[in-house]
Amino acid sequence: MVSELDSFLAKGKRKKLIEKLRGKGIKDEAVLEAMNKVPRHVFMDNAFLHHAYQDKAFPISAGQTISQPYTVAFQTELLQVKKRDKVLEIGTGSGYQAAILAEMGARVYSIERQKELFQKAQKTLHKLDYDIHFFFGDGHEGKPQYGPYNAILITAATGEIPENLLEQLKPGGCLVAPVGQSGNQVMTRISKSETGEYEKTNHGMFVFVPMLRGTVNDK
Ligand code: SAH
Repeated sequence: MVSELDSFLAKGKRKKLIEKLRGKGIKDEAVLEAMNKVPRHVFMDNAFLHHAYQDKAFPISAGQTISQPYTVAFQTELLQVKKRDKVLEIGTGSGYQAAILAEMGARVYSIERQKELFQKAQKTLHKLDYDIHFFFGDGHEGKPQYGPYNAILITAATGEIPENLLEQLKPGGCLVAPVGQSGNQVMTRISKSETGEYEKTNHGMFVFVPMLRGTVNDK
C-alpha cells in the first residue's frame, strides 16, 4: 500500500469500521483484513474521512455510487474468493470493490459501462499499485476471452442474471448478484457444480443502482 495516500487517522477510522462490520455479522477474516488495508477515502471525490469510513454508500461521478462497506463485505464473503482465483466484476464504479478483491490475492477483471468512471478507477488503482484488468463495455456480455472465472460479481441491480455470465463460470465457481427491479433487490448466489448444475440461494434485501444496457462515452 502506498503510504502517502493513507494516514494514521484513516487507519484508525478503518479499524473502527471493521469492528462495525464484524458486529453486523461479517465473519470472513480474509475479507475483513482486506477491508482494513484498502484506503476507501482514496476512491471518493470528497475524501472526507468521516464520509469514507461511515458504513454508507456515497455518490461518485456519473450519478453512480460507491457501495456501502457492509454491502462490499457481504458480497465478497459470499464469493468465497481464494488467492489466485480469477474474478470478474461487473460495474467497476469507483474501483473500491475491485481493490478489495485484488488485496485478497484474486486476479481481477472488471467491466464498467461509463467511460468517465472506467478512466478514473484505472487511475486510482494504478496510484495504489493494484494490478487489475479494466474494460470499458457492457457487462451483460462478460469477458469470455479471459474466462472461465472462479467467481463473478455483479455490483448493479439486474432483473435477471445474464446467461452469458453463467456460461463464463468455472465448474465449482459461483456468481453473486443483486436480483430485482429498482427499489430493492435480493442478494442471490448461484453456484455451478463440477458437473455443471446450478444451485441458487437467497441472502436478504439490498439496494443497488441498475445494471443498464450499452455504454456511455461522454466525459
Ligand atoms: N463496485 C463499485 C460500485 C458500483 S455502482 C464500487 O466498488 O465502487 C454500479 C456500477 O455499475 C456503476 O458504476 C454503473 O455505471 C455500472 N454498471 C451499470 N450497468 C453496467 C453494465 N451493463 N456493465 C458494466 N457496468 C455497469
